[in-house]
Amino acid sequence: MRNETTNRLLISAACVLGLAVFLIDALTTLDFAIAVLYVLVILMVALTGSIPATRLAGGASAVLTLTAFGVAPAHMDDQGHLVRCLFALLAICTTTLLALRMLADMAQRRVAEAALARSEAFLAEAQKLSKTGSIFIRFPEGAMAWSTESYRIFGYPSTEEAHLNRIMPRVHPDDLAEVQRTHAAMLGGAPLIELKHRLRMPNDDVLHVHLVARRTVSEGDRHEYVGALMDVTETVRTQQALQGTMAELAHAARVATLGQLAASIAHEVTQPMAAVIACGNSALRWLRRPQPNIEEAADSVEQIVRDASRATEIIQRIRAMARKSTPKYEQIDVNRLVVGALEVVRRELQDHRVAADIDLAAESATIRGDWTQLQQVLVNLMVNAVQAMTAIPGRRRLTVSSRITPDNAVTVIVSDTGPGISPEHMARLFHAFHTTKSNGMGLGLSICRGIVERHGGTIEAESPPGSGATLIVRLPLSTGENAQPMAVVPSDVPIEKSGARSHERPTSGAERPG
Ligand code: ADP
Repeated sequence: MRNETTNRLLISAACVLGLAVFLIDALTTLDFAIAVLYVLVILMVALTGSIPATRLAGGASAVLTLTAFGVAPAHMDDQGHLVRCLFALLAICTTTLLALRMLADMAQRRVAEAALARSEAFLAEAQKLSKTGSIFIRFPEGAMAWSTESYRIFGYPSTEEAHLNRIMPRVHPDDLAEVQRTHAAMLGGAPLIELKHRLRMPNDDVLHVHLVARRTVSEGDRHEYVGALMDVTETVRTQQALQGTMAELAHAARVATLGQLAASIAHEVTQPMAAVIACGNSALRWLRRPQPNIEEAADSVEQIVRDASRATEIIQRIRAMARKSTPKYEQIDVNRLVVGALEVVRRELQDHRVAADIDLAAESATIRGDWTQLQQVLVNLMVNAVQAMTAIPGRRRLTVSSRITPDNAVTVIVSDTGPGISPEHMARLFHAFHTTKSNGMGLGLSICRGIVERHGGTIEAESPPGSGATLIVRLPLSTGENAQPMAVVPSDVPIEKSGARSHERPTSGAERPG
């Protein structure tokens, strides 16, 4: 764009030229159309880019041509003079019109360019704010185009040529195989691509990116993709921090539940220990007889071993629940999980004279999840049920059942014969800090919901008028090929069938090893 000074010079030069042409045209008797030189005047003015000035130059040139024609010396060849005047006017008009048209086009293009620059700036700003870059890939060459934000994400200066080869050195070694698989799919012309992976930058920073790309052209072996590349590092880090906090909270709640069960647990451990002492004494008595009875003594020692093992199991179970560990996802047999949870609350049921009906129809139902957290959910529901029932006189019955549902899920249903949940409390049942207990924290059910939802499931409560509460946990069945019962759970755990009571002497190994 010309600056002001240049424009002023052009206008001045055009004025001088125009005046000179006028004087020559008006005062001399040249027999050629000197007025045609007004075309130069118009073009010089047009070079300033001003439409009004160009229009003025065209009009003034025409007026000056006519004036010069009018004041020309009388002896001139009148016909030739008239033809030259008309010829000059034609040239002036044509030039003016063309110059105006060109200037209008230029103005329009400038507006379009400004709009484009503005929208590019908007897009770049939006991409920067949302940390989302645009990419274009052409297979099989691997040629690419990146937006400014994509260059930032990949950590290359925008002067570098974008190419698939530049991405590969940035891909985190652990994600390389998956990225290569995705590229192979694109090479094969997959219509839609979605990939989350990590980049390891030269300074060892790890970025998490999410690529979504759509195939736009597919001709034979040639496939082109346009997509968005999102830098989701902050989101992933926030999620990780949140998960850490949730795990901490879940652990605190587990320890709190154990605190509630402390009396039962102490009793549970004291009992086998007392039996150990009694059997030890009796073994000693058999051995100290004048005629030691080795057989009876051996029986007593065997009983000691059984009781000591039992005490160890209980302690291991408690340690497993109290232990702080990061969630470990594995295949879990749902019925074994239920039995494990029942083992934890077994003594609590006994102490509060609660009968248990166990109906585990979901045989071999396997889910994928963290054993400790899911067991925590069931223990929490069972402890809540016991606490609700102890508040009222009358029959106390805990019913726990498991079912496989037609939509590839398994439900575990925990019902009681307590007072139930009133509609006003029902609405806030899973809210944090909602409690009706004087010493309650109101975190149990909200933590349960968090755990179940992180496992892709749901938890809901029902409380028909006149009956107790029913809590239903629904979890998706594992579809993995290796969907077998979890190896760490001993396979000899007996599963009690419908109507069985859980307050019989527990069997070994119902809990994971501590
Ligand atoms: P807390 O046990 O500390 O109160 P929870 O989140 O486990 O916290 O339970 C919240 C509330 O839900 C309880 O205070 C109780 O009012 C209600 N609730 C939970 N389970 C039952 C149940 N089986 N029967 C009646 N009310 C229940």
